[in-house]
Amino acid sequence: MSVYRSGHKCHKVTAWLYNDTCWSNLSEHLPARHIRDFLRSRLNHNGFVLRLLNPYLKAPDFYHRFMEDVCAWQNDPAISWHKGEWVCGDCNVQFVKQELYSWFVRRLVQDRHKFKPNCPYGYDCVRQTHRIGHAEQLNHLCDPEINLYGSRVKR
Ligand SMILES: [Zn+2]
Ligand SMILES: [Zn+2]
Repeated sequence: MSVYRSGHKCHKVTAWLYNDTCWSNLSEHLPARHIRDFLRSRLNHNGFVLRLLNPYLKAPDFYHRFMEDVCAWQNDPAISWHKGEWVCGDCNVQFVKQELYSWFVRRLVQDRHKFKPNCPYGYDCVRQTHRIGHAEQLNHLCDPEINLYGSRVKR
């Protein structure tokens, strides 16, 4: 017998299952301090970005708010599960990994964060990792326009 509805198929059945009644308990599966490593490229070494992210991560109901946001904002029918569906911790971690960056940018927009002009190297920028002044003066939560070799990124 399966606890899952059609749609999402967990690759394993374990005691660690989550849905919208207990998303906040995901912090036992994935401590919030590790989540920053799911940001894109070098953003997890940008001190300014981490200062923006930390207050969200420190909220005891971080996962619940994150999942509610992503479910409310998603318009991709391929996102494979519904709020009430029981999904294992590993699949939830993959989901957080996949959605964190987009969620964070959209959450900042909603919270009226004043974005600085974009750094042309975007999240790949090396200077953001060791120059806090640079990290503060330009926005790095954006796609690179120039790659690290100085060529324009084709889209
Ligand atoms: Zn699973
Ligand atoms: Zn930069």
